[in-house]
Amino acid sequence: MPELPEVETMVRGLRPVLEGATVRGTEVIDPFLLRDTTAEAIDLAFAGAPISEVRRRGKWVLVLSKRGPVLVIEPRMTGGFRIVEHDRPDHIRFRFLIDRPPGGVSFCDTRRLGRIRLFPDFGTASAKIAESLAEDALEIDCGLLSSRLSRTGRPIKPALMDQKIVAGIGNIYADEILYEARVHPERPASKLKKKDFEAIHAAIGRVLKVAIEAEGSSFDVDYRTVMGGEGGFLAINAMYGHEGEPCPACGTPVKKVRIAGLANRPTHYCPVCQKAPGQKSGRVIPKPK
Ligand SMILES: [Zn+2]
Repeated sequence: MPELPEVETMVRGLRPVLEGATVRGTEVIDPFLLRDTTAEAIDLAFAGAPISEVRRRGKWVLVLSKRGPVLVIEPRMTGGFRIVEHDRPDHIRFRFLIDRPPGGVSFCDTRRLGRIRLFPDFGTASAKIAESLAEDALEIDCGLLSSRLSRTGRPIKPALMDQKIVAGIGNIYADEILYEARVHPERPASKLKKKDFEAIHAAIGRVLKVAIEAEGSSFDVDYRTVMGGEGGFLAINAMYGHEGEPCPACGTPVKKVRIAGLANRPTHYCPVCQKAPGQKSGRVIPKPK
């Protein structure tokens, strides 16, 4: 599932193509993805005017027409954009046709779980988005994040993935962030100390920036950059997909488990670097010989 770094990579790929381009027209190939709007309404809103800006909030993409309307696209599980020809054209669900090369931008979605919504202006879109999404993970300050997390007794990992607490973090990056912060994924969020929140907040910034530089994670065939390339983060990360391999810090094999609240998605952590709830020391003291 695309998380903040993947969606940021999409937005960075779309900006040079879409921003300033005039929309010749729009094509809704699969109306199933539309929510509270129609193909006609989208075309009326965008055709004939330039696109002023492409933005991201959490895992959502916002395309702003200079005329005012905003298209909000949620890639969700398997959605993504292409500015090059798609190798599976039957998965194209929506297209912007533009007046400059490459002539069009496609939104593709294998499983059709993505959502497309139209708003009359940026203020209305922002207000609606704010009902579903908290502050973006790259913008939230430590105080606000700590106060939100400390009010939930849930394990820290699902709490970090709650888009109403902080927007943009999903299963892969939650594992990397908690490892970086040396916090066990099952510790109740409300029991964490100030230093844990500070470590988590700092780790969010570090991990997401490294992941954006690597153009995200291609953990299956669905996530590709707008050019059709794979993201490079899973070649340099520490936890996700590395079960049984040595922890980069202490050499202990990385554990893969299922935790409460995340039944279908695996969790990876280092059993030594990340103290379990109630576990006294995070370090294994070697026995004297
Ligand atoms: Zn370790």
